[in-house]
Amino acid sequence: MAKGTTGRFAPSPSGRMHLGNLFSSLLAWLSAKSQGGRMVLRIEDLDAQRCTRTYAERVEADYRALGLFWDEGGRSGGPDGPYYQSRRNEQYAAALERLRQKGLVYPCFCTRAQLHAASAPHRDDGQTIYPGTCRDLTADEIAARSAARAPALRLRVPDREIGFLDGNLGWYAENLERDCGDFLLRRSDGLWAYQLAVVVDDAAMGITQVVRGSDLLSSTPRQLYLYNLLGLTPPEFYHVPLLLAPDGRRLSKRDGDLSLDALLERSTPQAMIGGLAYLAGLNPGAEPRSPESLLPEFDWEKVPKTDIYVPDGLFF
Ligand code: GLU
Repeated sequence: MAKGTTGRFAPSPSGRMHLGNLFSSLLAWLSAKSQGGRMVLRIEDLDAQRCTRTYAERVEADYRALGLFWDEGGRSGGPDGPYYQSRRNEQYAAALERLRQKGLVYPCFCTRAQLHAASAPHRDDGQTIYPGTCRDLTADEIAARSAARAPALRLRVPDREIGFLDGNLGWYAENLERDCGDFLLRRSDGLWAYQLAVVVDDAAMGITQVVRGSDLLSSTPRQLYLYNLLGLTPPEFYHVPLLLAPDGRRLSKRDGDLSLDALLERSTPQAMIGGLAYLAGLNPGAEPRSPESLLPEFDWEKVPKTDIYVPDGLFF
């Protein structure tokens, strides 16, 4: 039986929502709903130090205030919960076990300082490419080092190009060994890595369509490799351009003046949706709109492919 479209919101509640989150969330909602699909809300609160329950609740309130409703997840729950990553330890442990059985997981004792050493090769986005330092440790070496330090866990990657056709940006591929290196599944302090958690959860929650910021484009080949190893069906991916402040900075949670709180003091939900839809090429002017009113004209063809400057005066 053909399965309908299921999209998702996957916010990390480490602060209030900001324009960039809202932009990709609006597009995720429009894309799924314009195909008659459903939306799931999953709270990505793996990092308990940074993600609080209060923020998670505010995020839900923010989506509701903007008219971006979801069908399943968050506090409303549903059949594929829990929808909080902090409560999905068992699911991640089971996936890790499957990867271990394939002989692809190994402990890594490298310190942060070693990983960031100037000699380590870097990717274009500034992240280090893991050089495989701990890849071939012997059982004795592992035992000796484990006594001194809890290891992180890494996944061996192949010397192979993994690519996909992004629904918004077109073809993207990486050679995992050359461009990324063996990547983390679990940190030394026990925190699950985003790459593993997002794959396990998107598959378990029946997500058929992932719409997110293009800062995560380069994570996708790693995630596709995990889908493959775990025998799971990957969703379609649509990466959306990032929003840039007039001075060229990427908008982030640090831009307090652009948090939803601050914006809603100066604006209304419909004015915000209208402004974001304008940036997405879906609203001819920046007049206030409801999300529903944008559905009939929604088309990925109209959505920009490169990062977008937010013009002075639109939101600030
Ligand atoms: N939780 C991530 C974020 O808020 C999004 C992850 C994803 O969409 O795959 O940036």
